[in-house]
Amino acid sequence: PARTRFAPSPTGFLHLGSLRTALYNYLLAKNTGGQFLLRIEDTDRTRLVETAEENIYSTLKWCGLMIDEGPNEGGPYGPYRQSERREIYKKYADLLLERGLAYKCYCSKERLLELRESAKKLKPPTNVTYDRKCLTSQHERDEHEYVIRFKSPEKYDQFEDVLHGTLNLQPQYNQQDRRYDDFVIVKADGMPTYHFANVVDDHLMKITHVVRGEEWLPSTPKHIALYKAFGWRAPKFIHIPLLTSLQDKKLSKRSGDLNIYSLKEKGVLPEALVNFVALFGWAPVRENPGESVSEVMDLQEIVSQFSIDHLTKGNAKVSDSKLNYLNKEHFLRKLNRPEEFNKLVESYYPVFTEFTHGKYNKEYFTKVVKIVGPHIGSMSEIEQNHMYIFQEVAYSKDKIPSEHTIEIISQVVNDEALEFNSLFKRIMKDSEITRKEIFTSLRFAITGGSSGLSVHEYLELVGEQEFRNRLQQALD
Ligand code: GLU
Repeated sequence: PARTRFAPSPTGFLHLGSLRTALYNYLLAKNTGGQFLLRIEDTDRTRLVETAEENIYSTLKWCGLMIDEGPNEGGPYGPYRQSERREIYKKYADLLLERGLAYKCYCSKERLLELRESAKKLKPPTNVTYDRKCLTSQHERDEHEYVIRFKSPEKYDQFEDVLHGTLNLQPQYNQQDRRYDDFVIVKADGMPTYHFANVVDDHLMKITHVVRGEEWLPSTPKHIALYKAFGWRAPKFIHIPLLTSLQDKKLSKRSGDLNIYSLKEKGVLPEALVNFVALFGWAPVRENPGESVSEVMDLQEIVSQFSIDHLTKGNAKVSDSKLNYLNKEHFLRKLNRPEEFNKLVESYYPVFTEFTHGKYNKEYFTKVVKIVGPHIGSMSEIEQNHMYIFQEVAYSKDKIPSEHTIEIISQVVNDEALEFNSLFKRIMKDSEITRKEIFTSLRFAITGGSSGLSVHEYLELVGEQEFRNRLQQALD
């Protein structure tokens, strides 16, 4: 069983890329009968966004990703918020200090800045900038502010990435003016850096697999060096392609849509979103060639089919039409499952009440969803395309579909029984009126346009009285 973690920094709202990271970690854990942890990496106090942690929680919950261990859930290896684990990091930093694998650095900000500047001028330039002054020179008094640096190895080990294979990532050194990749592990305020806290925690929390975005690949040799310094076994690494790097122009223009909250508000269903995000870099496999597999899956189905062996390295295209397609499929599924149907009604009723100004009760709304449901792919379409149900229609003369429209509508209004089949037959008999004209004319009377509910559906929804009123209004 895999133990995985989603380790976001609470610096902003979750977007599709971070949701996918969370999802793949979840899928891997659940597919193997393991645990999924949430760890809040909040050691960079300057970048904290206060509502971010809550947003992380509510998004994971909305998507149905249950957390086994985390800040609010607790667990045997807590606390799960890094800012609360300072003592733990201190202990492990001291261990490295004692073993001579780390050292205190008293260099001033100005000196470090100078080193950075001069490193830029080297040929080739390097982002490895520190000259190890504090490794060898006599330290000043300990009360003086210092950071702790890791004494990095001469050469980083190559490592295996499940997706990328063997990687040998070395910093670019300049041979004349030798600098060292002695990255900071504890900052002047006593807080650990990302690299250090991440490694200590993954070890102590018994993480077996790290699934994270490709942007962390350059950090991985450092992490592996730390595992080695401690004598710990490193977890397996799976670096998945960045979504931001997949953005084509069209998408980045609409990058607001990448925010999960805005998608939710637009009526995207969590099942559809999870399905959509799962397919960025993974696809279910056929058991036998020629067999077709459905891409429409709920979380449980994805869990059972997921495997890291079938992740793809290539870029997945993020397309709106795909999301719309999946949303519609999941929406239709729900309409046919009573329990989910009720949940759908419950969750959208407040929004409905708002745009209909509280004029209708839940019973009526339930009926609306039943009848309008098959015409739409998401709840927000009720407000977008079916407002004629809730308000008067402004008819426009140039939208009248046929020269017989008025005649057809008046025949229907004046019919006692509203038995459409026989009524339509009567209208068509002895006239040039076609069936199509009848339907488009009545739809025009009902909606003021050319799309929307059929006569049958509209009558069923609003009842005879209201139905006649609407038709009468079209005639007036
Ligand atoms: N805190 C890092 C982030 O925000 C975690 C990266 C990792 O998974 O190691 O993405």
